[in-house]
Amino acid sequence: MMISPLTTGIYTGLGVAACAGLAAGAYAYASRWPGSRVFGGALTAPARPGELALTFDDGPNPAWTPRLLDILAERDTRATFFLLGSRVIAELELVRRIAAAGHTVGNHSWSHPDLTRTPTSLVREEIERTNDTLQQIIGAPVKLFRPPFGARRPEVFRIANELGLTPVLWNAMTSDWSEPSAERIAKRLTKKITRLNRRGQAANIVLHDGGHHDAAANREPSVKAAEMLLERFTKSHRFVTVDAWC
Ligand SMILES: [Zn+2]
Repeated sequence: MMISPLTTGIYTGLGVAACAGLAAGAYAYASRWPGSRVFGGALTAPARPGELALTFDDGPNPAWTPRLLDILAERDTRATFFLLGSRVIAELELVRRIAAAGHTVGNHSWSHPDLTRTPTSLVREEIERTNDTLQQIIGAPVKLFRPPFGARRPEVFRIANELGLTPVLWNAMTSDWSEPSAERIAKRLTKKITRLNRRGQAANIVLHDGGHHDAAANREPSVKAAEMLLERFTKSHRFVTVDAWC
């Protein structure tokens, strides 16, 4: 599908107030959420130990994202999807399905480069092009940006802020993309979640429903692990989307 250039930039600026406290600087964020972990102006998780955010990176993946959406729907749970701009054009319906189900759509760059090694003008293009494309597909402003590999430098965050985006990192991750056992992924993440809770922190959990090298990567272990975490924590915790922490 062609995306009309006439609508490009329609939402530019609308997201600016999304995470106003954070956009104003890491200090404002830190003082708003005492005990929160701040890495140079990025959001990880607030001091709300009962809350969990499931976040999924590198999609959309036509092979596994639909199954994941079914699992989330069965449990009436909302998650946050950090999508790659270069993948969404081929998966318009899937992206619309993610948004229509009430999940939060975030920006994970266009082509998944290491932004610490990318010239500034290309950093802006990677982020802005993805934002414009996502916003045209879902018809709503995109407010969150997760840098690929979590690679960050002040220039990247400055550009994200200028585009009305809050940079988001995480505090619970395991190498789910290379781990064949869903049980092991879920076990490791459960350990991290429990530890964060003991320290008084919410958990910002990363799993991968896509692969930045392979558009249809096999993500069965990650998707199953998500299901196990839902099973394990639904009664004791509250699953939120990352923008609930803005
Ligand atoms: Zn990624």
